[in-house]
Amino acid sequence: MKLYNTLTKKEEEFKPINGNKVGMYTCGPTVYNFPHIGNYRAYIFGDVLKRALVYVGYDVNHIMNITDIDDKTIRDSKATGKSLKEFTEYYTNEFFKDRDILNILPATKYTKATDYVKEMVVMIEKLLEKGFAYKGEDGSIYFSIKKFPKYGELNNLSLDALKENAGGRIIKDEYEKDDARDFALWKMWDESDGDVFWETSLGKGRPGWHIECSAMSTKELGNHFDIHTGGIDNMFPHHENEIAQSECATGEHFVNYWMHNAWLLVDGKKMSKSLGNFYTLRDIIEKNINPLAFRYLMLMASYRTPINFTWEALVGTETALKRLYNLFLELGEDTGTVNEEYKNKFKEYLANDLDTPRALTVLWDVIKDEKVPNADRRATVLDLDQVLGLGFSTLKKTIIPEEVQKLIDERESARITKDFNRSDELRKKINDLGFEVKDAPGGPLVYSH
Ligand code: AMP
Ligand code: ZN
Repeated sequence: MKLYNTLTKKEEEFKPINGNKVGMYTCGPTVYNFPHIGNYRAYIFGDVLKRALVYVGYDVNHIMNITDIDDKTIRDSKATGKSLKEFTEYYTNEFFKDRDILNILPATKYTKATDYVKEMVVMIEKLLEKGFAYKGEDGSIYFSIKKFPKYGELNNLSLDALKENAGGRIIKDEYEKDDARDFALWKMWDESDGDVFWETSLGKGRPGWHIECSAMSTKELGNHFDIHTGGIDNMFPHHENEIAQSECATGEHFVNYWMHNAWLLVDGKKMSKSLGNFYTLRDIIEKNINPLAFRYLMLMASYRTPINFTWEALVGTETALKRLYNLFLELGEDTGTVNEEYKNKFKEYLANDLDTPRALTVLWDVIKDEKVPNADRRATVLDLDQVLGLGFSTLKKTIIPEEVQKLIDERESARITKDFNRSDELRKKINDLGFEVKDAPGGPLVYSH
């Protein structure tokens, strides 16, 4: 398998450190709000990568963190008057619900940052001992970037800019490349932290965001592991800082393959909470669009290509997905044997740095290939879907209960008489019963998952 490594800036043959075992870490959500669909691009990418590795025979230990302590979770939990725990648990659960809706397989383990404060403290103590960290006048502990000559390697940072700022400090978790300077490992308590603090050997305070991932990943996967993923905005400062902290603390090379997905854009701009131009999975569901159409839309581009999100594109993708579902259902219910030719082609595309757009063409080709027996086509689609995760295995020929059929007929009459309020009301009732109705030229189509 060839994968593009952001660290070396080239495609490399993937070789795990330890036989066929793969240690993989994905930077997970900061649980201060509902993730937006740009965030889900990152998790779908991580999911497809993991599924592809498993598909070709690797045994993947996939760790994802839950950032339940950082600047944003403290700020927003205070604003709502909830405890940090109650506040972050709510959004963690919402994240898990969305994950299942998008057919993202659960990670092997989810690590909550607040459960690893001890490990973070040990790591910071090591950095202090070895002279890579120091206490500032404000009592917080900082990482000294000039002590780590490789600082900036992941992001190609210019050494001149780094020298200019060397000695300067930054306490915020998130900042721009121009602000690269000594960053906070441990933040001394101040009033704005309220009741969020730990009394430790480092003083009363809390960890910085970056040390969290270094401590959790090395604790779960060892000092040196195979793959680390995240969205492109994690490259700086988060991953640059993770490398610096981890390598200085352990004295070992940290991660072999760094992989980053490109942006999900809206009107050519990054989708983000701070710009306010974001959509959540709820928006997709409210528009009555199958969320798996979003997953499909993400697979239609290479993970390294930016995608400009539009509702038109999503609706178009949903139509294509429904077409695939119908073609699949027409194959009947017998499952035969997987067609090796198509499987090999599919693997070949995945091995080309996860070329999902071409992998999808294999799905279309096999589903339409009348030379292959129906049962074998069915088996092959189900096999490919282990990586694509488009929901074929749970797709059932819809048997419509009488109660639902009545609502559908009633809705059709309401539509014909242009009583759209009534027809929307009935659609909602149908949805509540677990069915989805879509108007088509030949009459309403009904789906269930
Ligand atoms: P956060 O919760 O902000 O730490 O972000 C979670 C993940 O989503 C990270 O891997 C980010 O890099 C990724 N991410 C955030 N915004 C976008 C976007 N617009 N497009 C793609 N990935 C994103
Ligand atoms: Zn992280």
